[in-house]
Amino acid sequence: MARPIVATIHSDALRHNLSIIRQVASESQIWSVVKANGYGHGLERIWQSLRDTDGFALLNLEEAILLREKGWKKPILLLEGFFSPEELETLDRYRLTTCVHSNWQIQALAQATLSAPLDIYLKVNSGMNRLGFQPEQVNNAWHKLRNSDNVGEITLMSHFACAEEPEGIQEPLRRIELAAKDIVSSWSLANSAATLWHPHSRRDWVRPGIILYGASPSGRWQDIASTGLRPAMSLQSEIIGIQNLRSGETVGYGRRYQTSREQRIGIVACGYADGYPRHAPTGTPVYVDGVRTCTVGAISMDMLAIDLTPCPEVHIGTRVELWGNNIRIDDIAQAAGTVGYELMCALAPRVPVVVAN
Ligand SMILES: *Cc1c(COP(=O)(O)O)cnc(C)c1O
Repeated sequence: MARPIVATIHSDALRHNLSIIRQVASESQIWSVVKANGYGHGLERIWQSLRDTDGFALLNLEEAILLREKGWKKPILLLEGFFSPEELETLDRYRLTTCVHSNWQIQALAQATLSAPLDIYLKVNSGMNRLGFQPEQVNNAWHKLRNSDNVGEITLMSHFACAEEPEGIQEPLRRIELAAKDIVSSWSLANSAATLWHPHSRRDWVRPGIILYGASPSGRWQDIASTGLRPAMSLQSEIIGIQNLRSGETVGYGRRYQTSREQRIGIVACGYADGYPRHAPTGTPVYVDGVRTCTVGAISMDMLAIDLTPCPEVHIGTRVELWGNNIRIDDIAQAAGTVGYELMCALAPRVPVVVAN
């Protein structure tokens, strides 16, 4: 028998989440963000479940080419643009829409030999201060692009640093409006948080990522509990060992947990080398045999320990949910001081994945 850990990708949840986003942003087109191998779900496994989307946004050429080779004909957006002038040939061949965030990219585009113009997302730095043109530079960049025969449609794009906060996009929006005061174009601004919580930012194209996968952009599951979004990934394993301990014994590396009474402990075949966060403290929730219990002691590379007090019927071979429908990935992430995004992306290659319809 194989090691019992398995991740399940729920295709129905992906389809369902996309349809919820459609309802929420009914006036906008949708870029489904599938960067980082579909947030760790596996681009090849998930893209067909999202085929009702208007486009896919990602940032590796390999992933873009994969989608084209599988037959995806609708738009693909490169969120970080191209990384060298030589890549423009590939963008041309595969008809990829590219973000443009720097002057060298404008020059490279102007000098390239293309079979047809490329559509451009001109990136406005609205205060995130990672990529993009300052508001006062945008007009100039726009005109340079507009004057190039290699440039097709231009969309203005920006990305919010704090869209999960009620007042988080006011100042960015002010800068964006300043940048665009003399420009007529379509707009793409909203990530998941803005798509859900800032209706006036949705504009022409929204760019949801994390909510496609059923986790919360704020890191708090309660914030999306009323949306109907469903987890697209679950991680399950089994109990592979049981220890009946006396009071005063310790569990795992560093003796980080000590029993204060007789206690039955279950050992689960899942550790940080599978992608479970090593920083999850004692008390991190786990679902087993229909009840919520919790981890005890340190997370090891290949195993973790759980308290079996609330579930005395558990035996070797009992299924355990680490995250999924009963235990939200956001709750595990929060316990470990991170976000659902990181846990999804960190699912380890050694974990077998099955796709459920
Ligand atoms: C990752 C990313 C998104 C999606 O963000 P979520 O918070 O997952 O919705 C949107 N736009 C850009 C530019 C991104 O890099």
